[in-house]
Amino acid sequence: MENQISIYIHIPFCEKKCSYCNFPSSVGKSSVFQSYFSALEQEIISVSNLQNIKNVTSVFFGGGTPSSVSPKYISKILKLLQKKFLFSDYAEITVECNPNSITEKFADTMIGAGVNRFSIGIQSLNDEELKRLSRLHNSEKAESAYKLLRNAGAKNISLDFMYGIPGQTKKSFKNNLQRAVNEFNPEHISLYSLSIEPGTPFAGWKENKTKNWVWHDDDTMMNWFVTAEKYLSEKLYNKYEISNFAKKGFESIHNSSYWDTSKNYIGFGAAAHSFCSLTPDSPKRRFRNIKSVKKYIERVNAKQKFRVFSQQLNVKQQTGEKIYLGLRLAEGVELTPEETKLFENEIKQQIKLGLIKKMKKNKIVLTKRGFQIANTVMAEFV
Ligand code: SF4
Repeated sequence: MENQISIYIHIPFCEKKCSYCNFPSSVGKSSVFQSYFSALEQEIISVSNLQNIKNVTSVFFGGGTPSSVSPKYISKILKLLQKKFLFSDYAEITVECNPNSITEKFADTMIGAGVNRFSIGIQSLNDEELKRLSRLHNSEKAESAYKLLRNAGAKNISLDFMYGIPGQTKKSFKNNLQRAVNEFNPEHISLYSLSIEPGTPFAGWKENKTKNWVWHDDDTMMNWFVTAEKYLSEKLYNKYEISNFAKKGFESIHNSSYWDTSKNYIGFGAAAHSFCSLTPDSPKRRFRNIKSVKKYIERVNAKQKFRVFSQQLNVKQQTGEKIYLGLRLAEGVELTPEETKLFENEIKQQIKLGLIKKMKKNKIVLTKRGFQIANTVMAEFV
């Protein structure tokens, strides 16, 4: 486990900024792509020279929209990673993409380069909802992009769906899922509630009642989610994490490196997060690269510091994180007696409230009710 690692590559470019999005991404200019990818290569080479990272179990190109840049950039980075690190035979290699930018060239180049999993930001199959989210695709484009990936040979596809979109109804959300399952039949589905993030156009529209839209509250969204969860389970999509559902054997290897704190991951690129030790004699730390793409490129080129945050957790913080993240998993989190003791009161309290239950081997897991207010329960351990 110690020498195993998951790699995240951040591609901070999109074709258009969606009105609800506060991810570190911006509309990319092709003049910046060359220098950004060249900085990425330098960062990867410098880390590979530290010789502490072996056995890559997964690579995830996320963003932003990796499919919005020329696929040659992604395949070049993947080749470099394959040259510099040792990949396990079963390594999962995912590229996030949006229907609008999935082309035959993209699909063929990615599969030819070794990508074996695609995660598509479909969000909805209702054209009015997609317009409200200011997405560039419509449902027809979503369907043709999906077919294009399948025809190119993609065997593992994950679809992201959003719920709680203004004006969406429970019926239309369920209809999205039914179409996804019956017409698309993906291996993996992720469900995310729309979250109104400060500073986004959506936050302003909601606050100033600019749009004549119905904004949904948390209870409504939870009710929809419970129905969706039941439907997906009937269709044999196993909920293995709070928002992730998979057919048997298609649980994401990469995602699990975020939720299981015994695992390591390293992020390359602007705003990328890591949790690992870089050299054999240094302790495991959390660190993050500078968010600004411009500054990231400048600092990497000038060999200046581009990791702007670094933290080594004490034992109590480590245990708190282990519980906080591990409770996201349907199988729960197994604690040692020492770890249990550190959070004895919090665990007892949550058990009393019926939000956590104890399993054998010092394992704790969220109850059905606990899952419904998971963020509140998990916050007790931070
Ligand atoms: S495509 Fe994704 S990352 Fe890009 S702006 Fe829209 S929501 Fe944000």
